[in-house]
Amino acid sequence: MSYEIDTRCIHGEGHKNRDANCSISYPIYQTASFSHLTPGHNPTGFDYSRESNPTRAYLEETISSLEHAYDTIAFASGMAAIATVFEYFKPGDHIILGDDLYGGVVRLITQISEKNGYNIEYVSTSDINALKNSIRPDTRAIYFETPTNPMMHITDIGAVSKLAHDAGALVIVDNTFMTPYFQNPISEGADIVVHSGTKYLSGHNDTVCGFLCSADKILADRFRLLSKTTGATLGPFECWLCLRGLKTLAIRMDRHKSNAEAVKVWLENREEVEKVYYAGSGMISFSVKSAEFAVKVLESIKLITFAESLGGTESLLTYPTIQTHPDVPTDVKEKLGITDKLLRLSVGIENPADIIEDLRQAFEN
Ligand SMILES: *Cc1c(COP(=O)(O)O)cnc(C)c1O
Repeated sequence: MSYEIDTRCIHGEGHKNRDANCSISYPIYQTASFSHLTPGHNPTGFDYSRESNPTRAYLEETISSLEHAYDTIAFASGMAAIATVFEYFKPGDHIILGDDLYGGVVRLITQISEKNGYNIEYVSTSDINALKNSIRPDTRAIYFETPTNPMMHITDIGAVSKLAHDAGALVIVDNTFMTPYFQNPISEGADIVVHSGTKYLSGHNDTVCGFLCSADKILADRFRLLSKTTGATLGPFECWLCLRGLKTLAIRMDRHKSNAEAVKVWLENREEVEKVYYAGSGMISFSVKSAEFAVKVLESIKLITFAESLGGTESLLTYPTIQTHPDVPTDVKEKLGITDKLLRLSVGIENPADIIEDLRQAFEN
């Protein structure tokens, strides 16, 4: 029997008393290496912490449980997980990328992975017909975020998976914004899920980490080989911090969402706001009447912090055009709507009235 997701955030698949001393909070195995009894006999299965570590293994099993994955690897950042995914392909492979992606992914593709010789094509994966027309016999993967960052476009994971699988391509979903609490891409047909665990999963703006979840053994074996060889795996202390954050994922996500819904209604009723973009979870993007007004709000907020990142207990306001998307070409940004009038708010779990009051005083300053 599997527990409900809020229970699995705390207990994983129920590894009670797994640690030798029956600790309630799983220990931080702060060790680089593990002793062997005799040659060829290693009863714990742990050799060296780049490859595997008990604290990391506990975290990885917990994330696999939440994402319905066959296997999960914890990385030193979301980008380390994503960079490992892109090592899977060969020169000449046709890879379709969503057209509104985390800026770091665009930087990875345009400035680092170019030498790998992939045929990259950007398509709006929300438009299933456009996607259908872009799929070719050599298409190996479709990679996207849903909702997108920062414009909150939604893609039908099940529909994309069907198209992709008919063509023999993999489906890769960045599930950072929704988290497994609101969305399970693998259950809808995705083959690979990536996360910036820095955001909601850790949830306290204190840890940088990432996850790569695989739906099957073939993918998992390849990614295990890649991660143990290139070595960007997550250290034991960060694993523990993420495990600690995960315990409250369910109640945090409920609160992020209800707070965001309250802020959304407030923003929609302000004449200074042109448009509000919201797709669930705790993230809201909104465009204001002018770039000057956007800058004034950023400079006037007191409780909310002007900072990059998202998904933590503290509310953060971001200016995507210069903070998260500086490496996306200007014409692409304009086409997407990432202008100098666009702000992105990660609604924290403070009292919603305090968040709204802070925005009000910043608007009216
Ligand atoms: C932050 C983020 C990333 C990158 O993760 P890091 O942990 O910062 O390396 C990738 N995708 C999305 C959607 C993100 O928000």
